Amino acid sequence: MTDALFSRIDDKRDDLIALTQDLIRIPTLNPPGENYRDICEYLRARLEPRGFTCELIRAFGAPGDSDRYPRWNIVARREGVINRPCVHFNSHIDVVEVGAGWTRDPFGAELDGDRIYGRGACDMKGGLAASIIAAESFIEEYPNYCGTIEISGTADEESGGYGGVAYLAEKGYFDPARVQHVIIPEPLGHDCICLGHRGGWWAEIETKGEIAHGSMPFLGDCAVRHMGAVLDAFEKKLFPAMAARHTEMPVIPEGARQSTMNINSIHGGQPEQPADYTGLPAHCVPDSCRIVIDRRFLIEEGIEATQSEIRDILEHLRATRPGFRYEIRELNRVMPSMTDKTAPVVQTVTKAIQEVLGQDPAYVASPGSYDQKHIDRIGRLKNCIAYGPGVLELAHKPDEWISVEDMLSSTRVIAASLKQLLAS
Ligand SMILES: [Zn+2]
Repeated sequence: MTDALFSRIDDKRDDLIALTQDLIRIPTLNPPGENYRDICEYLRARLEPRGFTCELIRAFGAPGDSDRYPRWNIVARREGVINRPCVHFNSHIDVVEVGAGWTRDPFGAELDGDRIYGRGACDMKGGLAASIIAAESFIEEYPNYCGTIEISGTADEESGGYGGVAYLAEKGYFDPARVQHVIIPEPLGHDCICLGHRGGWWAEIETKGEIAHGSMPFLGDCAVRHMGAVLDAFEKKLFPAMAARHTEMPVIPEGARQSTMNINSIHGGQPEQPADYTGLPAHCVPDSCRIVIDRRFLIEEGIEATQSEIRDILEHLRATRPGFRYEIRELNRVMPSMTDKTAPVVQTVTKAIQEVLGQDPAYVASPGSYDQKHIDRIGRLKNCIAYGPGVLELAHKPDEWISVEDMLSSTRVIAASLKQLLAS
């Protein structure tokens, strides 16, 4: 019977390509969050004739939601002869900006050999298309299946997911009483199961000074020099300490298996003038300098220790450096998430990969975060993984593409997983 299921998928190869192309051709750029309603309507028109009940849900009041750029989401649900368990496929519908360096039309969805090119091809419209074709093939082959299939298309993953999965989780859509298994077809590769991701803490640090004439800096206090002392302390204390800490989580790439921090931006003194400004700067001692830090922490570290390590460095400077004053403001935080290898969805997809590909999966974790955090923290649903086609390194790059063969492999694995969980 599995062979029949797989030959159905092979027969839908052209459909898979056309579906992926249609999705890429709807430019759902975020920011600002364009065409969300259009792509939700497209998915409704696709799934309703196949027996799904579709709900379009706007995340009223979420960050970024406005009448001009409404945050629309779709949840499509199809119950079998009984309604449990529910297997949910969640894909984000938004894509990041195009950026420079393209040699293809970013929204042309050009098919060239085995590759479909376009913004969002691998992250993650190819994964969304694969999960739809897998679900449709399974339903045709096993019309009397036992359980429920849900497919969601959600907004704003690229900007934190607050108008998408976080909103739906708050409304109960990921309650474990309603949904039992979640697969997020992010582009981790058709032979990898992604168990979770590291945590993140974003903050702005400001050092304070006192303005004075630049010819008499001793009459003021230079906030940029104070920031220099902060950066020096980070180099001497924080970065070596972070490099020595390693996680048990199988984070890829290898370099992200330790704590990391990016200094996202730095600015001190007068605001930068527009490029066409031809005047000279005034001579002033800067009274403020700000950096934004992007600290990715390990599940073993936790958020409190991450914050206090940085606060301790700043407090030590306050105690020892004359005139040192600072403020620190949290911008955002994301908790790490890790699904256990023994979880049912992991076991199921493992068996499906063994069956389809004849090999064991690689278990990985993501260096950045994705919507699993909201399903875990808000939905309290732990049985969740990312599994989908595509090469992660292509995400957000020019000439992004997805391989048709890769999508077909993932489609088979997803369909074989549905068969294990729901076939009667
Ligand atoms: Zn993504």
